[in-house]
Amino acid sequence: MTRITIIGCGVVGAAIAYELSRRGGLEVTVCDRAAPGQGATAAALGVAMAVISHKVKGRNWRLREQSLNRYQTLLPELEALTGQPIQRNTQGILSLCFDAEELPRWRSLQQIRQGQGYRLELWEPEQVRDRCPHLRTDGVSAGIFSPQDFQVNPTDLTQALVAGAATNGVDFRLQQPVVGFDTGAEGLCTAVHTQQQTIPTDAIVLSAGLGTLPLTTTLAQPTAIGPVLGQGLRLHLDSPLGKPDFQPVVNGHDIHLVPLGGGDYWVGATVEFPPETSLDEALAMQPEAERLEQVRLGAIAHCPALATGTVTDRWVGLRPRPQGQAAPVIQPLAGYRNIWLATGHYRNGVLLAPATALAVRDLLV
Ligand SMILES: Cc1cc2nc3c(=O)[nH]c(=O)nc-3n(C[C@H](O)[C@H](O)[C@H](O)COP(=O)(O)OP(=O)(O)OC[C@H]3O[C@@H](n4cnc5c(N)ncnc54)[C@H](O)[C@@H]3O)c2cc1C
Repeated sequence: MTRITIIGCGVVGAAIAYELSRRGGLEVTVCDRAAPGQGATAAALGVAMAVISHKVKGRNWRLREQSLNRYQTLLPELEALTGQPIQRNTQGILSLCFDAEELPRWRSLQQIRQGQGYRLELWEPEQVRDRCPHLRTDGVSAGIFSPQDFQVNPTDLTQALVAGAATNGVDFRLQQPVVGFDTGAEGLCTAVHTQQQTIPTDAIVLSAGLGTLPLTTTLAQPTAIGPVLGQGLRLHLDSPLGKPDFQPVVNGHDIHLVPLGGGDYWVGATVEFPPETSLDEALAMQPEAERLEQVRLGAIAHCPALATGTVTDRWVGLRPRPQGQAAPVIQPLAGYRNIWLATGHYRNGVLLAPATALAVRDLLV
């Protein structure tokens, strides 16, 4: 049996664990310093923008497309295996376009997607008003509707991935920070040390998000993944917005409005870059309350009825963003023959977790 140790149990590590658990001949262990999904994953809105993204070729599109395809089977498969429901919104994503000069770019994307077998609809403002009467269309040039994109609750998903992997025999060592490694000759790492245990291993996957830099520094191959802060909020309205039978995720000026059902909505998120300081100082950066208020007001500008909503929750998270290379980082760690990085998913970790898991499986198996 090949022993594989995954470090980090956010949505990415959990997806890798689950995908590996479906293969025979592997003994998979997952370590996390906390409970599953407590890092960036806990803050995510889970909006999966694949078809509606402007990435049309190369790795960026391939990963999105692979995730989109895998999600179609993954969610029902996990629900059947674990009995745990995974909340999701499959009514599509509607993006409001405010600049008529962007319309040719959207039309060209629509054609490309058609050629790739996907649907993207360009709606006149009247059609936006008709389908979504809760949205204000002053200044809107078009609505771009992507029926195949969706949103999934990141916590439900991570918990189901963990439960599915555990059912398939994966060993979870939680509340155990990884603090060191045994590295032998010829770039091989033979064991992982947590504060409590030593785990002998044949291969390691680092899916530790913002824990990547300290761990790779221990391995003398520092890989810079820095934080970008995001804030979101939950609103409750006494009566749900728009038409009950059509509740897509709406995006305008990079602000998402995510219908959760029962008059509840997530709104977010801010994108706050830290000052260029040390990682420790960046990790300690504090959210600015007025930035979240700007997001709330921005959402109200698109959807005036949100002004009557009560804020029932607010939260903050840190997105893991690679420095000096593109997101995400899925590759061997330089200098080692049996350590792989699966990290730095920045703003798209929920979207890209299934494709990352497939890529890691193919690298390892
Ligand atoms: C406000 C906000 C909104 C977002 N919205 C979206 C969205 O709509 N769609 C989308 O796709 N993405 C979104 N994201 C981005 C998404 O959250 C991240 O890309 C994703 O969660 C990264 O997952 P991860 O598993 O790599 O990292 P994490 O969830 O951070 O997990 C890393 C894990 O590693 C563990 N760890 C670290 N160091 C160690 C160590 N030494 N030992 C043991 N364990 C360790 C941590 O405890 C943690 O559990 C959003 C992010 C934020 C902040």
